[in-house]
Amino acid sequence: MNLTQNPIEDLTTAPNTVPANNLSRRDFIQFISAAIATATLSACSSEERKAKPKLTPAPAPLAKITDKEISNETIVSIERGFKAFEAEIRPLLKNLPPDLTNLINRQFELMDLNLDNPYKEAHTFHHEYQKAGGKSPTNKTHYFRYKYSSDKPKVEFIASFTRGSRTINIHRGFNPNNKLHQLYLFHELVHASQDLIARHNQDTPSYLNSLEIGINAFEEGFAYGQEIELLNALLGNALEHRFNTGGSFNDSEIQAFMKWLEIPTGDFLLFKSLIIIAQNYYPERNPNGKNLINFIIQEYKALGKKIYIIDKNGGIHYF
Ligand SMILES: [Zn+2]
Repeated sequence: MNLTQNPIEDLTTAPNTVPANNLSRRDFIQFISAAIATATLSACSSEERKAKPKLTPAPAPLAKITDKEISNETIVSIERGFKAFEAEIRPLLKNLPPDLTNLINRQFELMDLNLDNPYKEAHTFHHEYQKAGGKSPTNKTHYFRYKYSSDKPKVEFIASFTRGSRTINIHRGFNPNNKLHQLYLFHELVHASQDLIARHNQDTPSYLNSLEIGINAFEEGFAYGQEIELLNALLGNALEHRFNTGGSFNDSEIQAFMKWLEIPTGDFLLFKSLIIIAQNYYPERNPNGKNLINFIIQEYKALGKKIYIIDKNGGIHYF
């Protein structure tokens, strides 16, 4: 581990910490196709594929089987809610830079590609995985699954993503018709995209090791950056305008936004926290910007999470 005094100073120059985000939309689609085609060798680099054709894919760590099963009906309503959210938001994205739109589209595509996943309920996957003697029942590595979360986090999360098992954890109170909850589902799908690319860009041990080391602040920056861009689009660019000039929103303005988006008042704290993150995202408007990354690091640290960045030399810095 390579610790320096002030790694945060290097943030804006850190290259390729999240290579996934440099792919164009076409590249990403090609990537997914390639991922499907080479799924039986899923976690190998291309050189290793040649050198060790029998290398097995990275095992999928399993979901906790003590959690309650999520019904197919619930999954369908989550998917439908997300499609409705996509239909509403797509026309609002046309003024975004094409690169950003391409990044955002990935999550909608991942969701579409998961619609025919026969193992999208985590227990079903788990059962089939065991039946197959500890092997994934599918070679489609872009698939992800759902389960209810039994975690009791310190703050209210509405959804979370577990790498390795590619599981979207649906937390108590998730409502598919709530735009704030769909924004968070979108955020988790950014992590699903990041996970897909990470497992294909690394050898199996490196990928599995990366699951242990904690939360990559840059990956969080990308997930929040896109989530905030969607929220800004839903609010007619109000966030961008106010925050670019160093302004802020008071609670009654925040409540007015919630009313406009038909978000229940019970979600005030969750919504307000996203507005505060947006305040740290603009005016740099850079998902790896110093302000945003610093803010994310402080927030996750306060929650007791292991959070790190990777510098331009590949050194890991914990905070
Ligand atoms: Zn996240």
